[in-house]
Amino acid sequence: MINIFDLTPDEAAGEIKGMGLQAYKAGQVFEWLYKKRVLDFSRMTNISKSDARKLGSVFKTDIPSVERTLESTDGTIKYLFGLSDGNMIESVLMKYSYGYSLCISSQAGCRMNCSFCASGKDGLERNLTAGEMTGQIMASEISSGTHISRIVVMGTGEPFDNYDNLLRFLDIAANPKGLGIGQRRITVSTCGLVPGIIRFADYGSQVNLAISLHETDNESRSRIMPVNKKYPIEEVLKACRYYVEKTNRRISFEYALIPGVNDSPAKALELAHLLKGMLCYVNIIPVNLIKGVEYKGNPGKNAAVFYDILGKHGIHVTVRRELGGDIEAACGQLRRSHADEIWRRD
Ligand code: SF4
Repeated sequence: MINIFDLTPDEAAGEIKGMGLQAYKAGQVFEWLYKKRVLDFSRMTNISKSDARKLGSVFKTDIPSVERTLESTDGTIKYLFGLSDGNMIESVLMKYSYGYSLCISSQAGCRMNCSFCASGKDGLERNLTAGEMTGQIMASEISSGTHISRIVVMGTGEPFDNYDNLLRFLDIAANPKGLGIGQRRITVSTCGLVPGIIRFADYGSQVNLAISLHETDNESRSRIMPVNKKYPIEEVLKACRYYVEKTNRRISFEYALIPGVNDSPAKALELAHLLKGMLCYVNIIPVNLIKGVEYKGNPGKNAAVFYDILGKHGIHVTVRRELGGDIEAACGQLRRSHADEIWRRD
């Protein structure tokens, strides 16, 4: 059986036509699945019983199961989802003035092992399928009764380490016959896999690209992000310039302030010099502290200093509002604490 959410709408339409159903039936099925969130073919009232049986014999409509939710006082909801093979993944639903945004995972675990992130601590379990990425949006909407208007692929996993499934997911997410979320409302965040940035530039979509930079020199960045040993800062920035040139899209650089590590005024100045002249902006993030990782001081204390220095050097900058700090909203924490519980129970 094929999970219909693993197929792009065009692929699914091809399968449906191949089953002998009239072409317009595919559009009706997509309407029920993606717009009305009805997953049972027999409940699609304009689909005949015999067509529903045919569809049900070829397709399953699996989405992740909600295993646990944590709701913050600011309205942020963190989901722990179960996959069909028992793996656990996380998504975070955030409420903004413009509506709801969901941060989704692209892998179960992550091989990048960034020092400030819980997701990489246990390595990579496996890539998520396009349907498992799509399913996080479906399941969050069904569970919360909300409509998600923006997506960030910034949860557990490195999206460019799962490139083909990512592109398939982006097709489903942005396609008007699929989730219908405009490309400009979707952001993919990478830790700096240079071949992925170049492929994504050549792919030429309107999807936003974010780079997790977090440091300004190779020695320091390699300490907190081991991927930097393979793809040093100058190569990442060269690929970013190529992306901007190819797409004419503004790129965003994520910079998590880690107290006593990368949050000095000198670092802000170095960052301004690195990014000078690039069509970009910097997103300053007061880092969410994770269990088992010791940082000294307040992560937000130098946010204003960074904001001023970057702004004075002509770099567009925003300081991200910290959401869900009371519910372990940093990526990988809930999945990991669930694993800890299992470990403790054993
Ligand atoms: S920050 Fe992203 S790339 Fe780094 S370990 Fe965590 S999930 Fe992986």
